[in-house]
Amino acid sequence: MFTGHYAAAFALKGKENMASLGMLFIATQFVDILFFPLVVLGVERLKLEDNFSAVNNYNLEFMPFTHGLLGSLVWALIFYLIYYFLIGRGKKDGKPLAMVMALGVFSHWFADLIAHTPDLPLISGEPKFGFGLWRNKLATFLTEAGLLIISLIYYLKNVKDLKQKSRNRAIGLVFFLILLDFLSFYVLPPEKDIMALCFSALASYGILAGLAFWVDKK
Ligand SMILES: [Zn+2]
Repeated sequence: MFTGHYAAAFALKGKENMASLGMLFIATQFVDILFFPLVVLGVERLKLEDNFSAVNNYNLEFMPFTHGLLGSLVWALIFYLIYYFLIGRGKKDGKPLAMVMALGVFSHWFADLIAHTPDLPLISGEPKFGFGLWRNKLATFLTEAGLLIISLIYYLKNVKDLKQKSRNRAIGLVFFLILLDFLSFYVLPPEKDIMALCFSALASYGILAGLAFWVDKK
């Protein structure tokens, strides 16, 4: 899953209004932000294989540290501690904010579970899980777009005192995310080079988080 992860970010912001949408964008994509550098370092393994699924050419061979259920839980805990002791230090609602960030990190595994072909381990090795939505391109696109739209509606209803400008920005960001999915599924050619893929993935996570900070700006 790509932009669909951000549905969790909008939903969690709807639940915990004081949380930063930009930080939630980082949290919900956190294990992927770690995954690509680990691939470059040879710690985790991704092979590009033509038509591996209907949506992409990712054979995600080995990624227990970032995409194991246990690994995800550990990263959620680490993110909680970093947020609580560094970023949210001194904030009176530091605990619920750190909790919501940790939930964002942990949500990634479950969103990937819907989309991926069976490549998600519990700890490492077999059994691996994935419901395989990626086998159907249209179903993947509609699911990610649907999740984003539902979470946007929830966000607009539940974030208090949203100015019209902020509402418009949030709506614009969601439609931009859906457009990105459309382009990557239907228009852009599949990535042929691991380094280029890692670089473009990390750049897009950074830019999208930046846009989310901007949407959230008071
Ligand atoms: Zn992932």
